[in-house]
Amino acid sequence: MILLARAIWAGKGNIIMNGAVQVCDNVLGVVGCSKQISPLTGEPIIDLGDSIILPAFVNSHCHLDYTGLAGRLKPGHSFTDWINQIIEVKRSLSGQEQELSWLEGAEMMIKSGCGVVFNIESVPGLFSRVIKQTPLKVCPFTELIGYDDLDNESLVDLAKHEFSLNSPLAMVTGLAPHSPYTTTANGLNALSEYANSEAMPITIHVSESADEWDMFTSCSGPLFDKMKSLGRIMNDCGIQSPIQHLNNLEKTDLRTLVVHANFLINEDFDFLSNPKMSVVHCPKSHSWFGYPEFKYKDLAKRGVNICLGTDSLASSGSTEMEFGELNIFSEMREFKLKNPEIDIGDILEMATCNGAKAIGLDHRFGQLREEMLANFSVIPFPKRLSNVEEAIIAHKGSVSGLFIDGKQVYSGKT
Ligand SMILES: [Zn+2]
Repeated sequence: MILLARAIWAGKGNIIMNGAVQVCDNVLGVVGCSKQISPLTGEPIIDLGDSIILPAFVNSHCHLDYTGLAGRLKPGHSFTDWINQIIEVKRSLSGQEQELSWLEGAEMMIKSGCGVVFNIESVPGLFSRVIKQTPLKVCPFTELIGYDDLDNESLVDLAKHEFSLNSPLAMVTGLAPHSPYTTTANGLNALSEYANSEAMPITIHVSESADEWDMFTSCSGPLFDKMKSLGRIMNDCGIQSPIQHLNNLEKTDLRTLVVHANFLINEDFDFLSNPKMSVVHCPKSHSWFGYPEFKYKDLAKRGVNICLGTDSLASSGSTEMEFGELNIFSEMREFKLKNPEIDIGDILEMATCNGAKAIGLDHRFGQLREEMLANFSVIPFPKRLSNVEEAIIAHKGSVSGLFIDGKQVYSGKT
């Protein structure tokens, strides 16, 4: 099958006007100018007219099972306030509500042109029960929380059990030790060792809030008091920044997605510039909490791979349109609003190939190139517009179509 469109955004610096995309089973054939394509005998040709074809987005950080919590939590006076709220709300959810919430989030991602999601799986067994109900490619990262070293063996057992259930059903399976403040240093080392043995990537929330900063640098603040009250061993606090806490763990060679990284010192930038590290920024969640400026330029200058994520609607959801749904277009717009000087091509890369690069699969998806997976979306390209990248970032509402592995999985309004 060949799809023709007024424009193709195949990757940064690779915009093809009057382009064509050839789909051969689950992968892409020729991607180029429509005049250069020679269809096979009988090959269908579909002209999408005033449209843009672009790679399906990669959402590098999400909690699909919190989708139903939109508007139920408030940023509060501190991050610890929010932690208290989510612990309380999660207790009230039934297993069925969590499954429906996960699927509702997956549907939002599909409608907004996302093909791959790196999802934090906080409910054991949930991913393997629901994944067959969606065409979305979800990479499950098993969430692990343990406050005492006595928990470490059971944490690794849980990780092994989830890996055995999830890995046959997913392109990539990973681990998500929730954060340095909800695990111990020894627990993180034990989980890293197991992840290493299965060559699994890790994702972890680090240096998100001032409360976390105070806990690790000066044994103070509400998060320090909260974690102590929950029985966490606190002898690793008052020493260093949260990122340095990660840096000083036993060394492994794991691909690691560091989520948030809002509070950083110079040494932290050096650590994050390791090619196995990526930073995931979630613009709407960042704005919702009112965090200080994300250090995009300082990270980019050091060559850090920076990806975009939606986080969850528990930390960005409200009744306002842009904040009431999981949507990478609105994440890109929020990022552009806060960082107007950043090139849109760089922002699009954060939403596509940088996520694939974070897990070492940038040769498989995140761009439109021959032999890569046929994961792409189609959006309208209004006649009045001429700049392709500006038209993409301005797009609102559902996409006109989404293809995953060469199959059309969504057909919206054009
Ligand atoms: Zn998160």
